[in-house]
Amino acid sequence: MLNWKTFAIGCSLALALLLFARKPSMSNPNAHRAVIDLTHTLNDRSPNWEGTEKSPFQATDLGNLEHDGYYSRHFSTEEHYGTHLDAPAHFAAGMWTVDQIPAERLVRPLVILDVRNAAKNNADYEVSVQDVAAWEDAHGQIPEGAVVMAYTGWDERWNSQREFRNEQSDHLTHYPGFSLEAAKFLVKTRDVVGLGIDTMSVDKGATTTYPVHYFTSQESVYHLENVANLALVPPAGATVVVAPVKLENGSGGPARVLALVR
Ligand SMILES: [Zn+2]
Repeated sequence: MLNWKTFAIGCSLALALLLFARKPSMSNPNAHRAVIDLTHTLNDRSPNWEGTEKSPFQATDLGNLEHDGYYSRHFSTEEHYGTHLDAPAHFAAGMWTVDQIPAERLVRPLVILDVRNAAKNNADYEVSVQDVAAWEDAHGQIPEGAVVMAYTGWDERWNSQREFRNEQSDHLTHYPGFSLEAAKFLVKTRDVVGLGIDTMSVDKGATTTYPVHYFTSQESVYHLENVANLALVPPAGATVVVAPVKLENGSGGPARVLALVR
C-alpha cells in the first residue's frame, strides 16, 4: 500500500536518477571539464618570420571612448603572424584558401606529441615516426582525422624574438619541426587533417626547402604554428577547436585555437 514514506523515497530515487542522467559523462563527446586557450595574444610584440625590429602587426585607434563615445581600432597584420593557420593554398596551387577549409575539419581529436627532451638538446630536432610510435604505444592508435601537435617547449622563448627565431651564424633560424617521414606517416596512414607546433613552422627552422609544407599542402592538410600552452593539454583525449579568420583568398591567417579537455 502506498504511504507517504514510500512516496517520499520514490520521489528521492526519481530525482537522483534524473540528476545522474543529466550529469555529463565520459561517454558524451561534448563533455569537457576545461577549455585551454592554445593562442598567443595578437599584438605588436610577437616574434615575426623575417625577424625585423618593426612588427608586421599594427593597430591604430579609429575612435576612443573619451572623444568619440566608442572604442574602435583599425589593425593590419601578416597572414602568418602570431598563432596562425596555414591553409593548403599557402604551398600548393588550387588548394583550399583559409576561408575554404570545411568547418568539419576544424573541430577534431587532438594528439600531443611531447618531444621536449629531444628538442632541448637539439634545436634542429625533427619529430620522427618513432615519436608517433611511442605515443601509440602509450595511448593506442591515433584517432582517424585528428590534429597532431608537436610540443617542443619552444613557446617558453615567445617573449624574445631573438631566442624564438634562434638565428645562428649560418644565417638560418634553428628550431624544431616535423620530419617529412613523420608527416607522411600521419597523413597517409592516420588521415590527420592538421599538424600543429609551438614553433614558427612545421618544417624545422633550418630548412631551405620546406618539404613538410609542400607535402601536406598537396594533401589538403592545414598547419597551426606558434601554438601556445601545450603543457596544459593531456597527450590524448582532448578535442581541438580551430577558428581561423575567414579571410577570402587567405593563404592563412590568425587563428583562435582552443582545446576542450575532458
Ligand atoms: Zn604559416
